[in-house]
Amino acid sequence: MNDVVDKYIEIFSKLKTDRGKHRWSSLTCHGAPHKPLLLLSLMDGFAQGLLVEPFIVPSQALLETFNQYWSRIMPRGKTTSMAYPFPRLKSDGFWERVPHPGYDPVTDYNVSSMVQLRKIYAGARMDQELFTLFCLPETRERLRGVLINTYFAPEIRPLLVEQGHVNQAAYDYSQTLLKIAESQGLFETETDRHKKVRDQGFRKAIVTLYDHRCALCGIKLLTPEGHTIVDAAHIVPWSRSHDDRPVNGLCLCKLCHWSFDEGLMGVSKNYEVLVSKKAGFDSNMPGHIFTLTDRPIFKPDKERFWPEQASLAWHRKEKFS
Ligand SMILES: [Zn+2]
Repeated sequence: MNDVVDKYIEIFSKLKTDRGKHRWSSLTCHGAPHKPLLLLSLMDGFAQGLLVEPFIVPSQALLETFNQYWSRIMPRGKTTSMAYPFPRLKSDGFWERVPHPGYDPVTDYNVSSMVQLRKIYAGARMDQELFTLFCLPETRERLRGVLINTYFAPEIRPLLVEQGHVNQAAYDYSQTLLKIAESQGLFETETDRHKKVRDQGFRKAIVTLYDHRCALCGIKLLTPEGHTIVDAAHIVPWSRSHDDRPVNGLCLCKLCHWSFDEGLMGVSKNYEVLVSKKAGFDSNMPGHIFTLTDRPIFKPDKERFWPEQASLAWHRKEKFS
């Protein structure tokens, strides 16, 4: 077993990555961070029990984790795609790409977007040995350490370690929110880390329940790169309610979220969209807002997760006008 661990420590410390002082800063040791970040994301998937077999599908959950690591350490505005590292891990010798029927398994297709990746590849199969290591918490931790210490500068290593912990805790928190009715008081005193866990966990629970669809206008836009137009909004703000139960949440697009928080939109007793007359005074407000009046809102499938009437009534009384 130790031989296998040593073998992968060696492989993980010599990943074939794009290197160049002008392309990559000292923060990532002048190398492309894609492969190490994808491997960290995979290990998170195993830790959460989302990945349970050696065949890896480029799922939305994996994409979100990868994007979270990326945005945590890369400069704002520098975007990327998980499509770069996913097929290219093949060159490191522990990962076989599995194309859809009709595509040649040997050809090195040029893939630079998730659309292309999903069109050509069903997924990838990792070595049984590595799969075994990824299933064990102790070996995951060792391999995580190798990646973080090899490919990232000392000043950003703690961010990656923390993001791993936040990912795990946020996942656990979202599962708790989906299982229990009561979430108040989970965190007595809130640290920055608690806030990240709470935000990320609450968001995960809400966007899952609403399947990435805005409750008020019904828009659903999920880009192939895993970005979504919706936010998880508290009906009674967290600062006031400390209530992360999904029944105090709504999945809202950016425009509806802003309009809801400003009191320009609300939800009636019968779960219909309310649009404030005040919205009409602003000629910049998009006209489609008014066509939503009295339309039923989009709710989660299970009634126990529908927005709570008490929270909606608070919003109508305190915010909507
Ligand atoms: Zn909307």
